[in-house]
Amino acid sequence: MSRLQKIVIVGGGTAGWVTAAMLGHHLQGRMAQIELVESDDIGTIGVGESTIPPFITLLRNLGIDEQHFIQATQASFKLGISFRDWLRKGESYFHPFGSIGGAIDIHEFFQCWLKAKLTENHPSNLQDFAPASVMAEKGRFMLPFKAQRTLIGGANYALHVDARLVAQYLRRFAEAKGVKRTEGIVTEVKTRPSDGFVEKLVLKTGEEVTGDLFIDCSGFRALLIEKTLGVGYHDWSDVLLCDRAVAVQTENRGATTPFTVAEAQDSGWRWRIPLQHRTGNGYVFSSKFISDEEATEVLLSKVDGELLTKPMVIPFKTGVRHRIWDKNVVSVGLASGFIEPLESTAIHLVYRAIDMLFRYMPDQDCAPALAAEYNRRMTADYEEIRDFIVLHYCVTEREDTPFWRAAKAITPPASLTERIELYRESGLMREGLDELFRNPSWQSVLDGMGVTPKRYDQLVDRMPFEVIRRTLDEAGPRLAAFVDTLPTHDEFLREHCPA
Ligand code: FAD
Repeated sequence: MSRLQKIVIVGGGTAGWVTAAMLGHHLQGRMAQIELVESDDIGTIGVGESTIPPFITLLRNLGIDEQHFIQATQASFKLGISFRDWLRKGESYFHPFGSIGGAIDIHEFFQCWLKAKLTENHPSNLQDFAPASVMAEKGRFMLPFKAQRTLIGGANYALHVDARLVAQYLRRFAEAKGVKRTEGIVTEVKTRPSDGFVEKLVLKTGEEVTGDLFIDCSGFRALLIEKTLGVGYHDWSDVLLCDRAVAVQTENRGATTPFTVAEAQDSGWRWRIPLQHRTGNGYVFSSKFISDEEATEVLLSKVDGELLTKPMVIPFKTGVRHRIWDKNVVSVGLASGFIEPLESTAIHLVYRAIDMLFRYMPDQDCAPALAAEYNRRMTADYEEIRDFIVLHYCVTEREDTPFWRAAKAITPPASLTERIELYRESGLMREGLDELFRNPSWQSVLDGMGVTPKRYDQLVDRMPFEVIRRTLDEAGPRLAAFVDTLPTHDEFLREHCPA
């Protein structure tokens, strides 16, 4: 069977240019010709600004110098997310990147801490032992790998980025790797009568763009995967109530915090993402409970700093395509599905999709077996993220507004209920080998949302309790004292990545 000769990417938002950068870098000179079609007239969504640690791995895999990237995109560092008012008004918790505590003897730190909590109500907080949480709380930053033998070696980090600057950066990168960019509006998509494969795009100018494999990065328009192939959509709005967001950019005020803030609101939640040169703000809400105008008013009343843009309302539908890859079309980014940005997972799903495509790279026939396996794995990723996001809502104690009463009444997907029950019964986590969110993430949110296990892992009883108590008593203050010696996030940015 003949190898792919040409891959066409439709769309030049974050998804399109991440795809182009990855394909250009890894396939350059080896295989297919790559062409990206985008339209400046249509523009991009431009709001994806908070990332998670695999984004750093992406930069490294592309051979991009992190410091150079941070300077060019005005990025700041992110150690995790501060959740405010989710369990109850006035309560907050932190979801850190990286590990929490080190093993005590041979035992998992979490189980030791849990034993101390359940048996003698030890006064420590789980996050006292997470280097990323302590750094975030104190507004300090240092690259953890530069301090591997110190107490913060277990921390991890990601970036807050300016989506527009990222797309520009990756465009330069991809074009230097031989990706051809074509400016134009796609007005028609022609399919082959014999098998329904997409054959070519017709642009407004009449120009035609042919290809063997098409990557649909056309955003919510889903030009190929939905408008042309009509694959259908799993609608998850029964478990995730928000369906709109309003976003606005403001001038910076005060220190640049090394974390994203996700603060619960009466009818959804509000994000705050600090970059070096400005701050991104948004209110993600449910249109059943609040109007666009009211949500905008609430957002504007809470932002600190002068407005730099007009508020932009973005409607969305939570869910995923029935088939993310169909025939010779692979959908990536918003074209493939969307889950509200509470854990900043959408850009991650873009490079995950292309990594997965490398694994199941088809020939020109796009063998259905490859597409089926690809779809199974990508859908599992979407479902895992959906469950993690639903967890933030379904165990809330809030009943103070109609939105929160509705959120609390959600019946979670069975896969999530099983996870929560396992944790409640035993403090144990379901171990998924290929999952994005590892135990410390689930533990942080479950603990932060007040879900308490009934018991701890009995294996911990093999160790004298005194060892656990002493470790807990000493480790938290030692970590806090060490973090106090680190530069502030702004100092680190100035020194490490001067503008
Ligand atoms: P778009 O940016 O919409 O790009 C679509 C492209 O297709 C454009 O270039 C457009 O010109 C082109 N196009 C469309 N139709 C045509 C046509 N007919 N002819 C030619 N070109 C066409 N993700 C995160 O990881 N972290 C976050 O914090 C985050 N926050 C978000 C907040 C909100 C409110 C929303 C809605 C999303 C957020 N996301 C976040 C998701 C993130 O914005 C997207 O995953 C990312 O920007 C990718 O978008 P995209 O490239 O798929 O679509």
